[in-house]
Amino acid sequence: MRIQENISLQQFNTFGFDVSAAYFSKITSKEDLLASVLWARTHHLPLHIIGGGSNLVLTENLPGLTCLMSIEGKEVRQRDATSTLIRVGAGEDWHDFVTWTLENDSPGLENLALIPGTCGAAPIQNIGAYGTEISEFIDQVEVLDTTLLESDNPWIYLSQPQCEFNYRHSIFKSYPGRFIVTGVTLRLPIPWSPHLEYADLKKEFTNTSKPPPIEIFQAVCRVRQSKLPDPKVLGNAGSFFQNPIVSEPKHSELKEKFPHLISYPTPAIEGQTYFKLAAGWLIDQCGFKGYKMGSVGVYDKQALVLIHSGGGTGKELLALAEMINKKIHAVYGVDLIQEPVCLP
Ligand SMILES: Cc1cc2nc3c(=O)[nH]c(=O)nc-3n(C[C@H](O)[C@H](O)[C@H](O)COP(=O)(O)OP(=O)(O)OC[C@H]3O[C@@H](n4cnc5c(N)ncnc54)[C@H](O)[C@@H]3O)c2cc1C
Repeated sequence: MRIQENISLQQFNTFGFDVSAAYFSKITSKEDLLASVLWARTHHLPLHIIGGGSNLVLTENLPGLTCLMSIEGKEVRQRDATSTLIRVGAGEDWHDFVTWTLENDSPGLENLALIPGTCGAAPIQNIGAYGTEISEFIDQVEVLDTTLLESDNPWIYLSQPQCEFNYRHSIFKSYPGRFIVTGVTLRLPIPWSPHLEYADLKKEFTNTSKPPPIEIFQAVCRVRQSKLPDPKVLGNAGSFFQNPIVSEPKHSELKEKFPHLISYPTPAIEGQTYFKLAAGWLIDQCGFKGYKMGSVGVYDKQALVLIHSGGGTGKELLALAEMINKKIHAVYGVDLIQEPVCLP
C-alpha cells in the first residue's frame, strides 16, 4: 500500500473538475484495500472509493483518503448447458470487460456496451441501457463489509436477491460507505437470446429478429456515440437525472395537460401501476437543451446530459441542476432525482 498526498483528481472524474484528494491510494489487491481502510480508520479520516469517476460530481477538495479501485482479473469460472459463470475484478474497465466476454464466446452483456466506469461500480447503481440491467446477470458480489473490520473475516458475498436491485438502485446505495466491492460474478444464460425491444435498436435491425451478438454490440456503440458526448472531449456523467416514476392518477393528469408526454408503464408494485417519465423530454420541453451557465450547461443533442466545458466547478453544476429541477417541479409537479453521486 502506498499513500500519496495532495493528488489532483481531474483525470479521475469524467466531468473533469479540478479538485484534489488530501490522501490517495491506488488499490490493486484485497490486501491493499484492507490496509488502506484500516489506515484511514487509525487516522480518523473519512474514506472515499472511486472507480472510473464517471458517476461523480466532485464539489471541492476531498478530505481524508481517496482509494482508486484498480483490482484486475477476469476469468470464466464454469460453463454448463444453461449458463457461463464469469468472475471479474472490481477495477476492470466495464466496456473492455463486455468486449472480452464477446471475444470469449459468452454473449449477454452486449446491450450494456460502452457504459464508462469500472466493473465494481456497475452493481452500485445497477447500470442499465437499451432494455437491459446488470442485475439480470449478477450471480454474486464480493465485498469488504466495513462494519466487520473487527471480525476474523470482513469479506462477504452478496447474492443477487441480497443486492436488492431496483431501477438505478441497490443495497450498496442504501448503506453508503458500508460495502466496498472487490469482485463481481456474472451468470450469462445459455442459450443466448437478443434484447431488441428498445426502439433505437429495433430500428437498426428491421430485417432480422436474431442478429449475432457482436452486431448488437456494434449497433449499441454506434447509437451511443451518436447521442452522448465523449467525456474525453466534453466533461459529463451521462444521464444526470433518473427518469421519474409517477402513479397512474398523476400520469393521467400529466397526459391530459401534455398529450405528447413520453412515458412507459413500469412493472406493477403491490398491484399498483406506475409510469416512468422520460426526464430528457421534460427538460427539453422547458427549453433547457443547449442552455449554458458559464462553463457548465445542458448538452445540445440530449437534454438529460449536463456538461462541463472546462474551468468550472461541481458547485456551479449543482446550481444548474437545482435550477432545472425547480422549473420541472413548477411545470409538471414532479421532482427529478440526481443520478451521479456528490463527493465529498
Ligand atoms: C458518457 C456516459 C454515459 C453513461 N451511460 C450510462 C448508462 O447508459 N447507464 C448507466 O447506468 N450509467 C451510465 N453512466 C454512468 C456511469 O458510467 C455508471 O454509473 C458507472 O457504473 C460508474 O462507474 P465508475 O467506476 O465510474 O464509478 P464512480 O463514478 O467512480 O463511482 C460512482 C459511485 O460508486 C462508488 N464506487 C465506485 N466503485 C466502488 C467499489 N468498488 N465499491 C464500492 N463503491 C464504489 C463511488 O464511491 C461512488 O459513490 C454513464 C456515464 C457517462 C460518463
